[in-house]
Order: sequence, then structure tokens, then C-alpha cells
Amino acid sequence: MKSFNKQKLELAEQSPAELMQARRAHLEKLTKTSLRSISSPSFDISLASTKNCENLIGKTEIPLGFAGPLKVKGDFAKGDFYIPLSTTEGALVASVNRGCKAISKAGGIYVYIEKSGITRAPLFKTNNLRESRQFVTWINLHFKEIATQIENTDKYLKLLSIKPYLTGRNVYLNFTFNTADAMGMNMVTIACDRVIRDYIEKKTKVKCIALSGNLCIDKKPAWKNKIEGRGFSLQADLTIPKGVIKEVLKVDVSRIMDVYTRKVLVGSSLSGSIGFNAHHANIVAAIFLATGQDPAHIVEGSLGTTIMEAIGENLYVSVSIPALIVGTVGGGTQLETQKEALTILGVAGGGNPSGTHAKKLAEIIAAAVAAGEISLISALASSDLARAHKSLGRGEKI
Ligand code: NAP
Repeated sequence: MKSFNKQKLELAEQSPAELMQARRAHLEKLTKTSLRSISSPSFDISLASTKNCENLIGKTEIPLGFAGPLKVKGDFAKGDFYIPLSTTEGALVASVNRGCKAISKAGGIYVYIEKSGITRAPLFKTNNLRESRQFVTWINLHFKEIATQIENTDKYLKLLSIKPYLTGRNVYLNFTFNTADAMGMNMVTIACDRVIRDYIEKKTKVKCIALSGNLCIDKKPAWKNKIEGRGFSLQADLTIPKGVIKEVLKVDVSRIMDVYTRKVLVGSSLSGSIGFNAHHANIVAAIFLATGQDPAHIVEGSLGTTIMEAIGENLYVSVSIPALIVGTVGGGTQLETQKEALTILGVAGGGNPSGTHAKKLAEIIAAAVAAGEISLISALASSDLARAHKSLGRGEKI
């Protein structure tokens, strides 16, 4: 038996790739399985094992397709885009592709960012309501000092606001930040921790008992995010002429409206949904996986609303996405395949000026979500949904 110190020394001498291989071999032995397909990632193993994933044993592969061209008329995304979509759901890419065709033939989709800001809401515990009130007053009076300390932690970080929520002895300070091209959760968590420990707790003697008090609200479905927004809040719209509806979507506007009203409006309200849409999450998930976004933020990305209205025989469509949490630097965006997918969209790395790549990506995603909505609701209206899934999802001849 090797001594513990000898084992530690041997491990320290191994490269990250060797460590990954040793871990995988160990797991194969433990579980009596072969993990051959999991081996040999194309990403930088030393970067991924220190920044993205502990106990690294390899990689998971998900098929990647593309839809487009998609004509986008945004403030940051202007022109025709090819959308990378990573999914295992047969028919999804074909469906989004059809929606892109309808949008592009209709002349493109108008998109803009209504507001933006990522949040972190630490929780403070006071002795009583009077102290909670005094604490909130102190925070409001010292916003400038808090902002200066926070912005000293990272040149890309800007504190936009602090909104206090108070209930009895609990005070939640909802910090909202601009984080340029980064999604920002690491940046803001580190910055909040620093300013709380070094400044707020020392000056007020009020203790922060959790760096996140669930009012942020990260990776959970919540009306607060739908109403107040988180990350990027986007709006997009277009009118599809009746000729394009007939040629590309193979249906007419009255059937689309029948399905839309009874499914998205009535069905969603009967089921108590937060998201009033057909499948925003499908498109958000496929682009998130392709481009290295945090997949748990698909929750926030699913909260949007789709509006359809008949204008004569034409179809007006708008999508509102209140909480799209994306970045083009940091996190999973630095991994090789994800970086290449961002390159397809022309947004890999930091933008010039900084922040413009993340905004462009957000606008493209909103446009792609609209494409997915238009196509799915049309497929339901023309009774093509099951047929498409049979042929494209199961590979059956129909
Ligand atoms: P990050 O990986 O920490 O990278 C952000 C850093 O990128 C910045 O601090 C900045 O560092 C650098 N950077 C270079 N160019 C930039 C530009 N143009 N704009 C902005 N930053 C730029 O990423 P993050 O976005 O803060 O965090 C993302 C990660 O957080 C993901 O892996 C996600 O899964 C994870 N996450 C964390 C929490 C949490 O509670 N901590 C919650 C949810 C998700 P320099 O100034 O040093 O260059």
C-alpha cells in the first residue's frame, strides 16, 4: 500500500489529461463499464478542469445542426444569421429552419433590448424591524461608496441599482449589474461577497447570512423575473404576409389564430403557466447548449410571452423574453466547440465596444425564438406536428 503522501505527490506530478484518464479508468473499474465514447474531448483539459468541471472524466456529445438564414433587424444584430442548435429532439432544427424562412421571406424581424442587468440578492438578518429599516436607510445613503468598491473588483462590472426587499428581520438587497459581454454570475457573486465582508458588515454590524437569498432569482421559475426582468429583457415582432403563410407555413391565418388563442392563451392560463408561449425553452436550450451558456438559465429563458394577431389575412407575431441570461466570454463560452458556434454568429469573445457581443447574441436568440414559435403553432394548425416527429424524430417513412 502506497503512503497517502506518496499518492498525493504522484497525483501532483500528473498532467490534467493524465488525471482525467486516471479518474475515468477508476470509474470504469468501479462501475464495470467501458467509457470509451466519453474520452478525448476537444477542449483544453487544463482550462476545463479548473474553470468548468471538477472530477473531469471526459465530455458529453450532443448533435449540432443549424437553421437559417434568419434576417434580423436589431440594434446590434443586423443581417442574415445561421443559428447553431444543439439538440436530440428530431424535428426541432427543421421546424426552426422553417420559421427562419418565413421570417426572412417576410422581410426580417425587428428586435430590441428593452433593459438589461444581472442580479444577485444577498440576505441579511437583523435583530428587529427597526434595525431592518435603519439598515435599508444606510444602504440607500451609501450607494456611491458601495458602487465604487464593487467596480474596483472588475473593470467590466458596473453597479446599476440596489433594491431592498424587507420582511421582519430579513433584508434582501437585490443588486443589479451591467457585466458587459459576460453573463456575469461569477463576477457579481465575487463582488458582492467582497463589498459585504469589507464594507457593509463592518460599517453596519448587520450580518449577511447567505450570499444569495433567492430574490435574485437564479435558475428557478419566478414571476419576479417575468415582471422585472433579469439578464436581457427583449422584444421582437414582425408581420407575415398571407402569401408567405401559405407558401412556407402551409396554412392560413384563421387556423393559426384558432390554435394560438386556445393553446397559448387559454391553455397556458388554465395550466397556471408563467410562460405564455409554445416552446421558447426549446430554442433557448438548443442555442444555450451550442454556445456554452449555463443550461440552468433555460428556466429564466422559458418565461416569455408570444402574441399573435390576425391583421386581415396577414399574421402579426411578437415575442417578449423577459429574462435571457447570456454571455460571450467566461463560463462555458471558452470551450472549443462552443466558441466555434459563437463564431458562426460573429460573437465569440468580447465585443468592441465591450458588451456589444452579448447584446447581439441576445437579439439573435430572440429572433430565433420567434422562428420556433411561428413554425410550431403553424404545424399544429396544419396538423403536421405528429407527422414531422414521426418522420424526423423517429426516422419513419410516411
Ligand atoms: P467568468 O468565467 O467569471 O468570466 C468573467 C470575466 O471575463 C470577467 O471577470 C473579466 O475578467 C473577463 N472578461 C474579459 N473580457 C470581458 C468582456 N468583454 N466583458 C466582460 N468580462 C470580460 O464568467 P461570469 O460570466 O462572471 O460567470 C459565468 C459562470 O458563472 C458560468 O460558468 C456559470 O455557470 C457560473 N454561475 C455562477 C453562479 C454563482 O453563483 N457564482 C451562478 C450561476 C452561474 P478580467 O477583468 O479579469 O479580464
